[in-house]
Formats: sequence, C-alpha cells, structure tokens
Amino acid sequence: MAKIANRTKSKEAFERSKLTHAGGFASAARFFPEPVFIKSGKGSRVIDLDGNEYIDYMLAYGPLILGHCPKVVTDAVIDQLAKGTMFGMGSELEFMVAEEIVKMVPCIDLVRFTNSGTEAVHFVLRLARAYTGREKVIKFEGHFHGWADNILISVHPSPPMGLSNAPWVKREVAGQPKNVTENVIILPWNDLEVVEKTLKNYGHEIAAVIMEPIMFNNGGIVPREGYLTGIRELTQKHGVVLIFDEIVTGFRLALGGAQEYFGVIPDLCVFGKGFAAGYPISSFGGRKEIMELVATNQVPHMGTFNANPLCMAAALATLHELSKDDGRVMRYISEIGAKLRTRLNNLFEKYSFPMKAAGSDPIFVLNSPVLNLRSYRDLVKLDFDFMHRFHTEMLDEGILFMLRGNVMLSAAHNEQDLEQTLDAAEKVIRRWENKK
Ligand code: PMP
Repeated sequence: MAKIANRTKSKEAFERSKLTHAGGFASAARFFPEPVFIKSGKGSRVIDLDGNEYIDYMLAYGPLILGHCPKVVTDAVIDQLAKGTMFGMGSELEFMVAEEIVKMVPCIDLVRFTNSGTEAVHFVLRLARAYTGREKVIKFEGHFHGWADNILISVHPSPPMGLSNAPWVKREVAGQPKNVTENVIILPWNDLEVVEKTLKNYGHEIAAVIMEPIMFNNGGIVPREGYLTGIRELTQKHGVVLIFDEIVTGFRLALGGAQEYFGVIPDLCVFGKGFAAGYPISSFGGRKEIMELVATNQVPHMGTFNANPLCMAAALATLHELSKDDGRVMRYISEIGAKLRTRLNNLFEKYSFPMKAAGSDPIFVLNSPVLNLRSYRDLVKLDFDFMHRFHTEMLDEGILFMLRGNVMLSAAHNEQDLEQTLDAAEKVIRRWENKK
C-alpha cells in the first residue's frame, strides 16, 4: 500500500484551475498526469493541499539550493522589502553581487543580471554574433537552452532525425518561424571529431558553440574525457565564442560552476536557478573583451526587472551562504548527494533493478535500463515508461523526483531524508519484484 493514497484536494484544485488558468499548470515542464498542488515548503520538504508530506528532490527544477524558506535568504528579502523592491536606478546590491560572482566564476570579468535563463541565453547569442560578426551557432542535439525561438531547436527530436553525425535541425514547437533553423547547426554532443570537421569547413561563419557542460536536461550525460578541453582548443583556434549554459550547473557543481569543476573556461556563460535560492534572477557574463560591448552599449542590454533589489538581496545572501567557511555548504550538498547516489545505486544492484544514477553528486539522473549514455541518440534506448512508473510510485511514497528522473540535493537535505528515501525506493522495488 502506497503511503500517499489521497490527493483529492489536488485533483479538485486542478479541475478548478483548468477553467481559467490555461491547462491548469504554469509551464509545459510542469505537466504531471495528476498534478500535485503544494501548500507550503520548509527545508527539504513540501506539503500538498491534502496535507501529504514529500521529500523534495525536484527543488522547483533547480533553484532551491538551500531548500525551502532558507532563513538567511528570507531575512535578506524581508529587510529589502521594507526598503523598496525596485528603483529602476543603480543600487549598491548590483556591484556587491557582481563582485561575488567575479570572485567565484572563472570566466567572468564582467557580469549583467537578467530574470530567466531563456533571456540570458537569448542575449549571449546576440552578443557572440555581434562580437564575431558571424551568424551561425553550433548547438548540440538534446541540449536545452530555454524556450526562445532561435534556440528551442532539436531538444527532444523524434525520428526522422537525419544521420547521427549530421542531425537535422528541427524546430521543437508550433509557431516557431521556419527561418530560425537557418543560423543553427545541430551536432551530436561528445563527438570531438564532428566539431573539428565543422569548424574546419565553416568556422569562419560560426559565432558560437553553446552547450550544457553536463547534459542534465536529457539523461545526465557527462562529457567524455578530454571533450570539453578539445572543444575549448578548437573554438579558440577558429575564433568562435564558447558559451557554457550553466543555468543548472552554476553554483551547484562547484561555486564556480561546471567550468571550475572541469577546469575548462568558456568565453561566456549564463547561470540562474540556484543563484538566488528560489528568487527569479539569472545572469550572463564572461571575458572583458566581449562584455565591453555590453558595457559600452554597443550591444545594448535592457530589461525593466533587471537587477531588481529584491532578487539581488536574495542572490547576495545565497552567494554568501554558499561560499562561507571556504564553501562548506557547497561541499555538504555534494557529500550528501554522493551518499544518496551511491546508496541508491547499491540498492538497484542488490535487487538487479535496471536503474542507475548518472551525472554528478549534487544533481543526478535516474535512468533505466543501465546504459553507457554518450549522446542524445542513446536516449532512445531508455525505457521512459518504466522510469515514469518508478518516479510516480516514489511520489506516492512521499518522494518527489522529477518525472524524467532528475534528483537534486540542497543544503536542507539530511541523513533522515536519505534513510526515508532509500526505504521508499526499497519498498517500491520489492513491490515490483513481488508482482513479477
Ligand atoms: N538552460 C538550461 C540548461 C536550463 O535547464 C533551463 C531551464 N530548465 C534554461 C536554460 C531556461 O531557463 P528559464 O526556465 O529560467 O528560462
């Protein structure tokens, strides 16, 4: 018997919401077959409308790196609320946050603040084009960089997709103009040779290479040994701007993001999500020479809500918390993630359950069956029905994983959460064993 049997109020809320709130959910990514409506969250846990409690490893798709309602951040926001939420003029918080970021993130000499990852990506692509005077961008099949027309391309393509070393450039959703595909070259990720050939032939037309340094939006696939270094060398050789999309990995894999973790420094990067522990803010930044175009308004960057003091106060408090005592909180998140990942893998092995955690310690993806995933095309071998079933049953045991299997750790997760999660996983696996 599952722990959570009753979600009546969530069901009623969904029916009511659908009448006025398109679809009853706020983002296509949040579509659950039976959405759970949440009343409140504290630390590592959330409570739904029916009073059911869940351990939250979804963390609102990433931002809640300190858990729900972290006191240091809440206090900073309350303090700022009393002083004013927006001025549309400079505030000291802007350079205070910028100084922290420049200290932490290796590629960043200069930074600007935006409100969402999509916006930050949109701008850095424009910036790379302005800097190089070239139009084309290399994007990798299966990587996600937000929902803007010119980059929502070949994220989840389905067959026909073209040759694996020359994938078709496929728009993702209805309404994207045909011509958005003209300036994007889609390549398979983790294949250095194909990038080398493309840059050799078309490098003079290519403004940027953009990638998720770990493919967390599809399978949690990690780069092959030497791949990122190779990409760095090739882009440098051809004068192409290398952009790391660190929206997920920023302030999560390490204080300096994936670039610090892997020791490969891009020209530009974007980050968001974990940056302000649950407040809507994102950012882009990079090498001085490129960012000077922004600083001097040669490539103007605009936005009413940019660097609004409320979110900046949250960001400053978050960065202080993550970096204090030489990054103790960051280390804790990685350590607790490593424990959960290892113990889940051990459990799967014990029961010969065909599932394995891929990715990194602070964030990983539970895939099934156990495969050596290298790029998007390998994902067709995954059994998504099986994975959804497992994650849905975990939800019914009070464990909130993303339906596609992503598991994220925060500073609020603790040993008790881990024990409860492992017990729930064992219960689900044994139930399945008994049904065989
Ligand atoms: N890039 C990556 C790697 C992401 O995972 C996301 C969001 N999931 C985005 C960009 C877009 O960010 P946002 O949803 O804040 O627009």
